[in-house]
Amino acid sequence: MTRLLRLLAALAVAAGLASVPPAASASAPAVGAHPARWTVAAKKVPTRAQWLADVKAAMQGFGPYVRQRVAAKSGDEELAVNFDIDNTVIATYYDGGGAIPRMRRFARMLDRLDVAVVFNSGRVATQQARTVSQLTRAGFPVTEVCLRPKGGALVVGKQRCRDHFADEGYTLIANVGNNDTDFVGDGYERAYRLPNYGVLG
Ligand SMILES: [Mg+2]
Repeated sequence: MTRLLRLLAALAVAAGLASVPPAASASAPAVGAHPARWTVAAKKVPTRAQWLADVKAAMQGFGPYVRQRVAAKSGDEELAVNFDIDNTVIATYYDGGGAIPRMRRFARMLDRLDVAVVFNSGRVATQQARTVSQLTRAGFPVTEVCLRPKGGALVVGKQRCRDHFADEGYTLIANVGNNDTDFVGDGYERAYRLPNYGVLG
C-alpha cells in the first residue's frame, strides 16, 4: 500500500467511515477456519474496544443493584443471576473463547455475595462437560449450567432453563444476555442486554 492509501485508510477509520476488523487485534481468534463467515461478520461489527465499551455501558448499575437486592433479600430466598454464555460471559466472537474480564469480575462478586451464578445457553446438551470446563478454565464460578435439548427451539430452551432454576428454589434477580431470544418469556427481575450488532450469537 502506498503512503497515500495508508493515510486515506487511517482517515476513514478515524472518521468512522470504516471499521478496523477484530482480526487486527493481537488476541483475535484464528480466522482461517471460517473465512467467509468472518468476512461477512467483520463488515457489521465494531472494533473489539468498542464492543467492550458497549458491554460496560450495558452493565452500568449492575453491581449496586445486586448489592441492594442482596441486602433486601428475605430469609428464605436463594438468589441467582442467569447468564447467557456466548458473547455474554465468553468472548466467543472477539477472542475465540476466553472470558470477558468485566463479566468474570461480576460473576466473582456474585459468588462472594452468595448469589448463585447459573448459566443458560442455546448450546446443545451434548456440550455440557465441555462448556462447564470452558467456564471453569476461564475463571468463572459455576453453580449450574443448563443447555438446550438437541432439536429444541432456542427461546423454549431458555425459558425451560429459567423454570428449572426456579424449580430448584432460585430467584433470578437478573437475566444477562445479548440476544432477544435470551429475554423472551419471564422468570427474572431485571434484564441486562449486551450488544449483538445483529451478528453475535
Ligand atoms: Mg449469546
